[in-house]
Amino acid sequence: MRPEPIVHQCECETCKAGFDAEIIQSHQRRNLFLSRLNEPQRRWYVATLSEAADGPSDRQLALLTGLDEKTIRRGKAELQDQLSALPLDRQRREGGGRLRAEKKTRN
Ligand SMILES: [Zn+2]
Repeated sequence: MRPEPIVHQCECETCKAGFDAEIIQSHQRRNLFLSRLNEPQRRWYVATLSEAADGPSDRQLALLTGLDEKTIRRGKAELQDQLSALPLDRQRREGGGRLRAEKKTRN
């Protein structure tokens, strides 16, 4: 059985203060979303947040998402490197049914 994904509780000031329900919800939804991604996807997504022009700092993002700053920096480095070191194969296979058509039946 697959373990239930753990949703990170946002640790930003706003969520800790607990007054701004909209922000709290949006941070929770983002962390829920993150919990369904695999590890590389998580750090790439957070890396894109980090690179947004007026986006939060890596330190802030670490509080928001539960990834550590090192992981976020790694995600950014990988994106800058065009994700060239990554197993594109596996992701393709999971994504589409095209390969299945090539599977031969016995006899
Ligand atoms: Zn928050």
